[in-house]
Amino acid sequence: MSTLTGKLLRIKLNDATYGEEEIPQRHTTRFISARGVGAIYLYDELAPGVDPLSPANKLLLLIGALGGTGLQGFSKWAVMSKSPLTGTIFRSISGGNFGVWMKHAGYDLIILEGKAAAPMYIHIDTSGVHFLDASDLWGLDYRQLQAQLREKHGDRTESASIGPAGENLIRYAVIHSGERTASRGGMGTVMGSKNLKAVSINVPTKKPSPFDPAAYKELIKIQVGILKEHPRKQTMTTLGTPYITKIVNMMGILPTKNYQEGSIATIEDLSGDQFLKLKKARAGCYSCMTRCGGMREVMQGPFGGSQIDGPEYETIFAFGPLVGLSDRQFVIDANALCDAYGIDTISTGVCIAFACELFARGIISSADADGLKLTWGNQEALFSLIEKIGKREGFGRLLGEGVKRAAEQLGSGAAAVAMHIKGLELPGYEPRGVKGYALSMATSNIGGSHMYGRPREEFSGQADPLVETGKGDLIARVQKEQALEDSLIACTFGNTGLDAAMYARLLLAATGINDFGNDANLLDIGERIVCIERCFNVREGFDRKDDTLPKRMRQEPLQQAGPATNQMVSHLEHLLDEYYQALGYTADGIPGIKRLQELDLPEAVEDIKTHTPPSDSISPGRNDQS
Ligand code: SF4
Repeated sequence: MSTLTGKLLRIKLNDATYGEEEIPQRHTTRFISARGVGAIYLYDELAPGVDPLSPANKLLLLIGALGGTGLQGFSKWAVMSKSPLTGTIFRSISGGNFGVWMKHAGYDLIILEGKAAAPMYIHIDTSGVHFLDASDLWGLDYRQLQAQLREKHGDRTESASIGPAGENLIRYAVIHSGERTASRGGMGTVMGSKNLKAVSINVPTKKPSPFDPAAYKELIKIQVGILKEHPRKQTMTTLGTPYITKIVNMMGILPTKNYQEGSIATIEDLSGDQFLKLKKARAGCYSCMTRCGGMREVMQGPFGGSQIDGPEYETIFAFGPLVGLSDRQFVIDANALCDAYGIDTISTGVCIAFACELFARGIISSADADGLKLTWGNQEALFSLIEKIGKREGFGRLLGEGVKRAAEQLGSGAAAVAMHIKGLELPGYEPRGVKGYALSMATSNIGGSHMYGRPREEFSGQADPLVETGKGDLIARVQKEQALEDSLIACTFGNTGLDAAMYARLLLAATGINDFGNDANLLDIGERIVCIERCFNVREGFDRKDDTLPKRMRQEPLQQAGPATNQMVSHLEHLLDEYYQALGYTADGIPGIKRLQELDLPEAVEDIKTHTPPSDSISPGRNDQS
């Protein structure tokens, strides 16, 4: 018995066929599950240079080894593919029940390949996989769609689906499960490019059976005890992620007016306490006692008069200070509008802030923006712009390409205000005020993500966030830890109080795989995942030149940022050297052959040899010149 099913379902959309396969034990022991197993499948099966929006790209849906059990905060699921925003390997994680239903259906992984000839959805039930016409579902938002799927296939149907923006190939479209989304990197865009509206599942509950049920049950008891006492869990349950706004404002890292400033005077308006007053009910994911979500009422747009689960901190920053606002209701309404179209709130907010700064600098005018006056904080214009993006209409068509491509098309200095890393719009943490976090974002193999390795030490006072040296080891470690957690999938907010030693005990009891019972081995698995993701990117032409930050972060002093005022990331090259040395990469940011062999990644050795000088020289350090 094991909580892993050991099985994948491969669905070929071109000819509407499917088959089950065993996931090789060697994949499991080297990568565990979820992000790890997804990374090795993408490395093995995607030829370099594949267009992310072509039928040759693949979309992977994954649930972790401990998902669907009674463990708290481990039942989220992941989507992986080559991203149409970044051209890198990508993973995006969602709440909702879909992943658990995958496990009930008997799969740790679903691989979707090819492209349907016409709009289609997949339904999985006890009789198999059904390829169904989605022409009457095309254009529906996720709520309309979920209602129809439940009407057709039963009340217990859970789905992963796209909205109109995914159909319209907006490059940052999301995938919905219930009220939650796999938001980042355009995973919904890849699904739309395959003419696939949804994957739905309705099968009887089949809970995974742990290898050692008694030991596993005891560990869950320990976890529940830890959670009950933990202050962080209490904060998350009461306030959810909106509690973050005041902390980042105090640190001067709340991105304001397109990352020109780092704090706002009206922060009380966006505090966790103020959002708590608007909370109508608690919300959360499968098997999670933290339940960090909150239902709040929407006033305008297609969901006006109903409630949504949100907003999270990342949406508050994106439709608050980033666009010159601190209006709570606008944040909620903008959140709901993005959900209705199925677009990522972070990328949408950053694209709109980009447009506002272009407007302020006279690089674009109202005439370029369909008559919209894109002044900071102009709620009516910003709301219209979200709709235009979702519909891929007028100026929204350009912004729907993401800031990197939009700036390339606009020219005229637009690139200087396009805030992205490797094409992924930046998240809600100003890199100039958290230098280790800046390094983590710069080196992230999925671009400008806040979830590729978060140095908590810079937030807790254990490490000075403004110091720029000695952070390479820290970031290498937190990226490995994040990869390990994503391979389980442990929710960042729901797994409070657990560490690698506890993961080892849990995995051993759940799967009976002895290799998992050693926490040092688990951290090696985390490093192996980061490394194979980097190897994927190296094959695509990525190297040190791509591990960077927008010029603004390196050359413009941050304004109005409290303790971070006048900060820049001045020594990025030095930080990169430290980071590469910590991971055994060359000075060009490419994994060294020796480290690949130590990490048992023979499949990458030959590929990487073609990118590495014969001496395999490990990063000797470079003069700082950033
Ligand atoms: S803490 Fe929040 S996001 Fe995480 S699993 Fe629980 S409800 Fe979901």
